[in-house]
Amino acid sequence: MKKLVVMKFGGTSVEDAVAIHRTAGIVAGRREKGLQPIVVVSAMAKVTDQLIAAANAAARADRNGALAITARLRSRHKEVACRLTAQARGEEMSQCNDVTGPAYAHSQTWIDAEFDALDEILRGLAAVGELTPRISDMIVSYGERLSSRMIAEAFAVRGLDGVHVDSRACIITDAQHAKAVPQDVLIEEKLKEQVLPLASEGKTVVMGGFIGSTEKGVTTTLGRGGSDFTAALIGGGVHAEAIEIWTDVNGIMTADPRVCPDALRVKTISFEEAAELAYFGAKVLHPATILPAVQKNIPVLVLNSRNPENEGTRIISLAPHCDSPFKSIAVKKRLTIIDVVASRMLMSHGYLKAIFEVFDKHKCPVDMVSTSEVSISLTVDSNDRIPEIAADLSRLADVKYEGRKALVCMVGENIRGQNGIAAQVFNAIRHVNVRMISQGASEINMSFMIEEDDADEAVRSLHAAFFEKPDPEIFEVEARKSATAEASVR
Ligand code: ADP
Ligand code: ASP
Ligand code: MG
Repeated sequence: MKKLVVMKFGGTSVEDAVAIHRTAGIVAGRREKGLQPIVVVSAMAKVTDQLIAAANAAARADRNGALAITARLRSRHKEVACRLTAQARGEEMSQCNDVTGPAYAHSQTWIDAEFDALDEILRGLAAVGELTPRISDMIVSYGERLSSRMIAEAFAVRGLDGVHVDSRACIITDAQHAKAVPQDVLIEEKLKEQVLPLASEGKTVVMGGFIGSTEKGVTTTLGRGGSDFTAALIGGGVHAEAIEIWTDVNGIMTADPRVCPDALRVKTISFEEAAELAYFGAKVLHPATILPAVQKNIPVLVLNSRNPENEGTRIISLAPHCDSPFKSIAVKKRLTIIDVVASRMLMSHGYLKAIFEVFDKHKCPVDMVSTSEVSISLTVDSNDRIPEIAADLSRLADVKYEGRKALVCMVGENIRGQNGIAAQVFNAIRHVNVRMISQGASEINMSFMIEEDDADEAVRSLHAAFFEKPDPEIFEVEARKSATAEASVR
């Protein structure tokens, strides 16, 4: 068989017929190079959010509100399918809403059938009024189920031998809805049975990201942004040559370009650094993505579907030497800080265990911990269980909590053993009130907690301080040079 490459396209890369057509061109390019792509797609942009909104409306007994959302989604999907067919047939198609010809009928029929089934679930939910995690997963799964099938059909009529495989037949998980844990051994078996034979016939398999199912066939999801994770699971499962994450920016940047317009592309980054960045809020990669790739030592590339010529970011096991201390700055917002103060009990045997047992009981992961003589401060994602957690903790000690915090995380292999870095970091943001500081156990991240409202400005200040003279071997400085040249000409 040809060399396998897993190509994942995010929501913006498949947001409409034009984007899907561009995606087909990128996949065709890989096939022309003699590679065998397996394609993983997200739901079209914003569809998952809208499905969540529909589920919430139905759960509030707002049946009409829920059905109005799915009616809009139905016509969006039908119109995109229609445009894709028209485009492949070389026809002009300005009005795609009521096409009935045989070339269009097939996709319109199956899309209607899927939305009829979804509406049935929403009607039931509106009557019962209880949105369980299982039903929520069932509802949101429609985004990727629809996009993957539609894109497989678009690839078929564009000569790419597109064929759809329902991810729920391969991505086997446990039953923790909304954050299901994949079962690697079973996944590898299923991929061998259902995907590899098609790939070896030269077919372009298209699968939905984010969704899976339990061994008993109950639909699950891997958590928001989980399509990246699916791509890595498939890449690991089929021992792909590379995993490509196609998105709407040129790669992993030195900061979120939406927050910091001066951000530069990072050319190469280590698995460890990328994992740290993803975990601490760089949305460009799902935090769990890297692990399956690391285990099999498969390079991951982050690429821009709107600028496919750009070489993107390469994530590899060991990054080359870099002169700059940091590679990138990530921010995780919507955090809550919980302070536990217990003058009597601190240092007594089993005290920390008792505290962590409370978080464990509520299945609430802790991001950062710092302790003092009499207190322990912890940060968690803001969530509606915090009052219950605080109530349980208050049996052990005095508890206070405060939301709207952000964790800024500076990542780089080079901070190991460099003197004076912390002083430079805090000097750059001396005007900001810092609540908690931690240097990760991995020694490649330095993070601190600030008010959410200060976060964007702090990132820009840190970026200006640490990326003034970026190492050209590691960062794409050409873009900045040409911007500066343009400015000086003007
Ligand atoms: P997709 O739909 O392709 O999965 P996402 O929206 O999940 O795309 O992720 C891409 C977005 O991540 C970018 O548009 C960018 O705003 C954001 N982002 C945050 N941090 C970074 C970073 N360090 N580098 C690049 N993009 C980042
Ligand atoms: N569609 C899902 C989400 O919006 C998964 C993904 O896009 O990766 O979270
Ligand atoms: Mg994403």
